[in-house]
Amino acid sequence: MTANKAEGLVLKRYSGFYYVQDEQYQIYECKLRGKIKAPVFTGDRVKFTPLEAGKGILESIIPRKNELYRPRIANVNLLLIIMACKQPSPSLILLDKLLLLASYYRITPQILLNKSDLPPDSKSIFIEDYYPQMGLPPIKTSAIKKTGIDTLRIVIENKITVFAGPSGAGKSSLLNALVDGISVKTQELSKKVERGKHTTRHVELYPLESGGWIADTPGFSQLEIPAIKSSELASYFNDLSSVAEECKFNDCLHQGEKECAVKDAVNEGLIAKSRYQNYISILEEILAKERSYK
Ligand code: GDP
Ligand code: ZN
Repeated sequence: MTANKAEGLVLKRYSGFYYVQDEQYQIYECKLRGKIKAPVFTGDRVKFTPLEAGKGILESIIPRKNELYRPRIANVNLLLIIMACKQPSPSLILLDKLLLLASYYRITPQILLNKSDLPPDSKSIFIEDYYPQMGLPPIKTSAIKKTGIDTLRIVIENKITVFAGPSGAGKSSLLNALVDGISVKTQELSKKVERGKHTTRHVELYPLESGGWIADTPGFSQLEIPAIKSSELASYFNDLSSVAEECKFNDCLHQGEKECAVKDAVNEGLIAKSRYQNYISILEEILAKERSYK
């Protein structure tokens, strides 16, 4: 039998098989061609040979746009940072760390404020006021009232999206709202999302009917600061980096050095205190790591 190679997306790995979705949304259960040595990630775009009865042979991996190791997933297009307007109150340090990760891995971030049916607390109002100045206007949803879900659908359309955010913000509820109508999947999905917090296992991509895929992982629950040098950290904070060039010393870490434009901007209220404090606390973590390597 001769078969042409096709292109597809790895949705998951399960007991030695790779489940590959082709452009016609057919899913093939693929074995690896023996010569592939590098690990195949969920999210990998691959070439494969379709065989009979939904089987196939995975032939090669198409070069990745990006790769994450925890969760292990490739070609992520969007990091959806989900915070509740209240209950729990948004975590600004988690938000800033996630934005840092997105920027480091070159993944577009999107902030989402869920529970918009509740009156927002002050941190939520702050996110709505301040982050748009950095090009990050949040979307607002209520998973319970099903508002904003269509906007969310458009934002994630045809993308591979990883959900992140604190427990209780409404990640599972939003997933359920998005996959509405596919009830079996919904159940599986929410069960897995809950389990995923405590177990290490392979990430799975769920295709949405409206186009796009969601990784069934709370994502980045163990937040490690990537290998960024202390001297480069400020460049990942858009608001800090826009004034940092004016600092007197060009190796200024904005920790209290003289004639620091960042500190001045904080005092003048141009840079939010929380952003500066979060920068400093991440900087201290990095400096401690750097000292321990010496
Ligand atoms: P996760 O831990 O981020 O996955 O959060 P869940 O989806 O499990 O939601 C945590 C709690 O918040 C549950 O009791 C949900 O019913 C509730 N919840 C989720 N979305 C909303 C919302 O839009 N509005 C309100 N008021 N409650 C919500
Ligand atoms: Zn400075």
